[in-house]
Amino acid sequence: MRAAVTAFVALGANLGDPQAGVTGAMECLAAIDGVRLIRRSALYRTAPIDSSGPDYINAVVELETILTASDLLAELQRIEQDAGRTRPYRNAPRSLDLDLLLFGDARIDSATLTVPHPRMLERAFVLVPLAEIAPHRVSSSQLAAVGGQPITRI
Ligand code: ADP
Ligand code: MG
Repeated sequence: MRAAVTAFVALGANLGDPQAGVTGAMECLAAIDGVRLIRRSALYRTAPIDSSGPDYINAVVELETILTASDLLAELQRIEQDAGRTRPYRNAPRSLDLDLLLFGDARIDSATLTVPHPRMLERAFVLVPLAEIAPHRVSSSQLAAVGGQPITRI
């Protein structure tokens, strides 16, 4: 059996009932075959950045998985589809966005998957919940760099 890997996934939603969407998605992640939900952050509210529509609800979860990174990404995309995600244009409002932030210490750069997630260091809505559940994975200077972005823990 393959060794389990610790992975972090960012959740975001700003359509419909985003709080229920994010909470429900955590349950869907926990239900994936080969995945264990280890830890979940609080829910956070943020104004859209490079996007539009209502405020976002964001969170980060820690998973332990025996899946490969690409199989995990496929599961994340299936859960997005099940939540009614459409991609009418880039950065459109979304019912659910699931991004793979970290997959153990892996560095992946394929056509469909980049890990660590290339934009995670630019976003308070990723770094703040990640630092809440995995303080050793975020430095204080990384947190300080996004300190100007308003984010409310709910
Ligand atoms: P974004 O999350 O950047 O707003 P999307 O959710 O529409 O955009 O993702 C677009 C594509 O990004 C996906 O089809 C996926 O193949 C690719 N991708 C690359 N790296 C990652 C990652 N680490 N996590 C999730 N998707 C990724
Ligand atoms: Mg995404």
